[in-house]
Amino acid sequence: MTSTAPGLLVPAVDEDGAPFWDYAARGELRIQACADCGRLRFPPRPCCPYCRSFASEWRPVSGRGRIWSFVIAHPPLPPAYQERAPYPVLLVELAEDPGIRLVGDLAAESQQGPGHGQGQGHGQGGAPASGGPGGGRRRRPAQRAPEPRIGAPVRVVFEQPPVPDCPPLPRWALI
Ligand SMILES: [Zn+2]
Repeated sequence: MTSTAPGLLVPAVDEDGAPFWDYAARGELRIQACADCGRLRFPPRPCCPYCRSFASEWRPVSGRGRIWSFVIAHPPLPPAYQERAPYPVLLVELAEDPGIRLVGDLAAESQQGPGHGQGQGHGQGGAPASGGPGGGRRRRPAQRAPEPRIGAPVRVVFEQPPVPDCPPLPRWALI
């Protein structure tokens, strides 16, 4: 991980993982698979842990999965993340293979809540979710953002962070 101007962390792309990010840049989730035994593996690496073959391919997957676990990130955090806290970070098992688990946070569209038409404003600063009646300036009167739970179905969403030369990052939307 490398620190950047706005302080957001970006992926360290190595030779084995580069195709993952190339596909992500096209909005595709692909996972490395063994070209001999066919099993998926993650993180990417040269050799199959099951049959020891060095032949591999990048297989498209559905981008769907379930929340296997999650944490709620609280300070202390790097400064660029502090403002968003507390926020969930999910560990998602892929539909194609529950042994493949990817980390990502909740996509912005999940945080806006379903069926809510206005208030597109992203991250308009703000007040914590609660704090007493009449306190905050939130525009969602009755509806709270959905919260993650273990086992909930999700789909991947690629979102471009505001960092030059950073690939779109996989995040997860509740479905
Ligand atoms: Zn194999």
